[in-house]
Amino acid sequence: MTPDEFRHYGHQLIDWIAAYRRDLEGWPVMAAVKPGEIRARLPPAPPERAEPVAAVLDELESIIMPGLTHWQSPRFFGFFPANSALASVLGDLASSGLGVLGLSWQASPALTELEEVMTDWLRQLLGLSDAWRGVIQDTASASTLVALLCARERTTGFSQESGGIAKLERPLVVYASSQSHSSVEKAALLAGFGREQVRALAVDQDFAMRPEALAAAIEADLRTGLTPCAVVATTGTTATTAVDPLEPLGELARRHQIWLHVDAAMAGAAQILEECRWMWRGIEAADSLVLNPHKWLGAVFDCSLYFVRDEAVLTRVMSTHPSYLRSSADSEVRNLRDWGLPLGRRFRALKLWFLLREQGAEGLRARLRRDLENARWLAGEIAAAPDWRLLAPVVLQTLCVRHEPGGLDGEALDRHTLAWVERINRGGAAYLTPAQLQGRWMARVSIGAESTERRHVEALWQVMRQAAQAEPFAASH
Ligand SMILES: *Cc1c(COP(=O)(O)O)cnc(C)c1O
Repeated sequence: MTPDEFRHYGHQLIDWIAAYRRDLEGWPVMAAVKPGEIRARLPPAPPERAEPVAAVLDELESIIMPGLTHWQSPRFFGFFPANSALASVLGDLASSGLGVLGLSWQASPALTELEEVMTDWLRQLLGLSDAWRGVIQDTASASTLVALLCARERTTGFSQESGGIAKLERPLVVYASSQSHSSVEKAALLAGFGREQVRALAVDQDFAMRPEALAAAIEADLRTGLTPCAVVATTGTTATTAVDPLEPLGELARRHQIWLHVDAAMAGAAQILEECRWMWRGIEAADSLVLNPHKWLGAVFDCSLYFVRDEAVLTRVMSTHPSYLRSSADSEVRNLRDWGLPLGRRFRALKLWFLLREQGAEGLRARLRRDLENARWLAGEIAAAPDWRLLAPVVLQTLCVRHEPGGLDGEALDRHTLAWVERINRGGAAYLTPAQLQGRWMARVSIGAESTERRHVEALWQVMRQAAQAEPFAASH
């Protein structure tokens, strides 16, 4: 493809994306396809001969579109929002068009330095002290793995430089709450801790970690000859956005010299708001934290910020110095390959740069406040409606909801919940993701798609009531 052809098809594609975003509201939110249906419409083997780009653009419309669930729809209330603000899309396009890689500072100096400045801009917006240094990782999963690898190495006096953890006499223990994200357990297993040394601690009535439970677990492990190594606290858990209390957890971490990592993948974004800063009281005692601008904040996936206080531990664990990556500037610059797992690095800072400048801190704050206000409105409606129940405090923009018509409980209630949520999702009017809380199904309503206004939340509430009434389980009671 020549640059002139690129211009031609690029304009078409930009027009197509702009029309998609303009008309998003008209699409049923959840894809209505069966497993294998899209695959069956694609040729099983690659084309031998070149094909016209116009044909690919056509099939983007005819084959791919029917197989998408529309995350950017104003009627998307599933999982957590993964906003892809159009300004950040332009930044991502610039990154793709430039096609540069940051293997070292010298390989693309502006890539490294814009990333340093963007992570520092975010640090300031989030109210973190200047003791923190940030780097962009792909996902929170990778960031948490990096954190646990660093915790493992710091606790063991850098065992990787000698016998590794295989030679340890006292196994290392990781602590998190029973409500922590699945990526925490996965990271602990991948970092070699072993399932027997991963503690899922009990939570309080608001689903937050209980410091007494952590203290008791640490004492018990010390008594049996284990080595407490790391605690992962969550600001904004996946099911209910519960907030683990950082102050007492940090105190315990300091006393026992354990690494404190804070998983704020979703709720970290809320720290740009003064009124949400209570969630991070005690954050300065943490060793590392992660938050995903690719969720609520609006940077198109993927963009995860990993902040540390002691960059020396991170770079000691992650650094590599093969001859072909060395340069005379190494002593004066950051080589971001030493700040995470991969060698290659996309120019992800561009999408943050475009986003932050086009929105301004003010624009971001106003949107997040709008979403919090919408969540409070819906919480008020649900609390006041007969047979409806909120199952957890509405701390942010996610509501945990059940319709509990008289006489229904246990598995019958589970069937009812799953049925009315499924009815909504299949109908295409909105998209919700059910989840389990204390062993029972509930509907999660996560407000915060960039395009979601109050009227969409009002329409959702109406759809929820209709769907719950229409289900035979409810009607029979
Ligand atoms: C979304 C989320 C994750 C996982 O994020 P990825 O970037 O997809 O790995 C982890 N923890 C919490 C609390 C989350 O909300």
